[in-house]
Amino acid sequence: TRVRPSSKRCAVIGGSGFLGRHLVEKLLERGYSVAVFDIRQSYELPGVTFYQGDLCDKEALRPALKDVPLVFHCASPAPASDDRALFQRVNVQGTRTVIQACTELGVQKLVLTSSASVVYEGADIKNGTEDIPYAAKPMDYYTETKIEQEKLVLQACDKEGGLLTVAIRPHGIFGPRDPQLVPILVDTARRGKMKFIIGDGTNLVDFTFVENVVHGHILAAEHLRPESPLCGKPYHITNDEPIRF
Ligand code: NAD
Repeated sequence: TRVRPSSKRCAVIGGSGFLGRHLVEKLLERGYSVAVFDIRQSYELPGVTFYQGDLCDKEALRPALKDVPLVFHCASPAPASDDRALFQRVNVQGTRTVIQACTELGVQKLVLTSSASVVYEGADIKNGTEDIPYAAKPMDYYTETKIEQEKLVLQACDKEGGLLTVAIRPHGIFGPRDPQLVPILVDTARRGKMKFIIGDGTNLVDFTFVENVVHGHILAAEHLRPESPLCGKPYHITNDEPIRF
């Protein structure tokens, strides 16, 4: 007989990353035991079991997702990469593999970290709701694969006793240990390269504090049930007001 998985167990795919690690720390604080799956290990923490592997490899994923009712998928190649094949392989093909592994292992819930850029077409969006259609012309290849990835995960939602899914769409994330946003801004400024403004200086850009993004993920996970309106839906996540640059 199969051991009934404890409801306080979960797995974080991409748990070594910036967002992933903040999520893991908050989950531990809330009493979860956490399996981290990632191609690299960046820390050790009590309560975390680390599994190293590529999410495109189902056999490597299986031990990390076994007997786990809840999976967070927040792994992605760095958006700045220009390796199209890598985005396709990890974000699209790899996400198919993650969904298959979840389904085969009887995982109950899958929470995806998507991106607000999936609806961005170049014009400012203020108070945008989730009814906005996907961008017909995504701004880059990363975003194109984030759209495909989100569709795959949301379409996999099965309220009749199968896998339940939801997606969280942050835009820029900032906070402690942020490897990209603030360090790149500071570095660019130090090198005297802040002379250019993209747009006319009134563009809206949204940044969300990492702990708010984490909070959104955990709320979504804990409220995802077969009868809940969250099933198969994306949610924008933001601070109160966009920042005007
Ligand atoms: P990050 O690079 O810090 O973390 C991503 C993690 O995924 C890394 O630890 C990396 O090793 C892992 N990974 C990459 N390819 C993998 C593979 N094939 N198999 C297993 N693990 C793999 O990035 P982040 O900023 O923490 O982003 C997390 C998620 O949030 C991503 O899905 C990203 O698209 C999304 N997101 C981030 C931002 C942001 O501003 N940082 C904004 C919107 C959406």
